[in-house]
Amino acid sequence: MRILYYIWTFPNSLIGLCVGVLGLVSGGRCQARRGCLEFHGGLVTWLLKNISVNGVLAMTLGHTIIGQTTSALRISRDHEQVHVRQYERWGPLFIPAYLICSAYLWIQNRDCYRDNPFEVEAYGIADPHDPQKYSDDSAEPGGVTRDP
Ligand SMILES: [Zn+2]
Repeated sequence: MRILYYIWTFPNSLIGLCVGVLGLVSGGRCQARRGCLEFHGGLVTWLLKNISVNGVLAMTLGHTIIGQTTSALRISRDHEQVHVRQYERWGPLFIPAYLICSAYLWIQNRDCYRDNPFEVEAYGIADPHDPQKYSDDSAEPGGVTRDP
């Protein structure tokens, strides 16, 4: 039945795959972890560094996760996996729902990122900025890491 989750959220994963392929052709890398493809390096790193004023360590798009580096992916993995579960619940509605929440919070003059209920859930389970909370499964069996 897991295949249904992959189908339901495939439109989101397709966006991540397109970004990931752009990363690969510009010198980036790909690895498989916890049922997701993780991309880092090349244009992926450039995109995440420049997507906001402070940059973004990692971002989930369906069953793909893009990260600035392998370390960024490792420390963000638990947090991003919460977003994967959210994508599996919301499917193609996830991105619109996330953006509507952020817009509503912005209108309310609140933090459209940290007050977003999707982020509140993810940070409640795993805060990438708290090293006590993240797990180190970089040597997870089945993962294919192609680091230089
Ligand atoms: Zn998040």
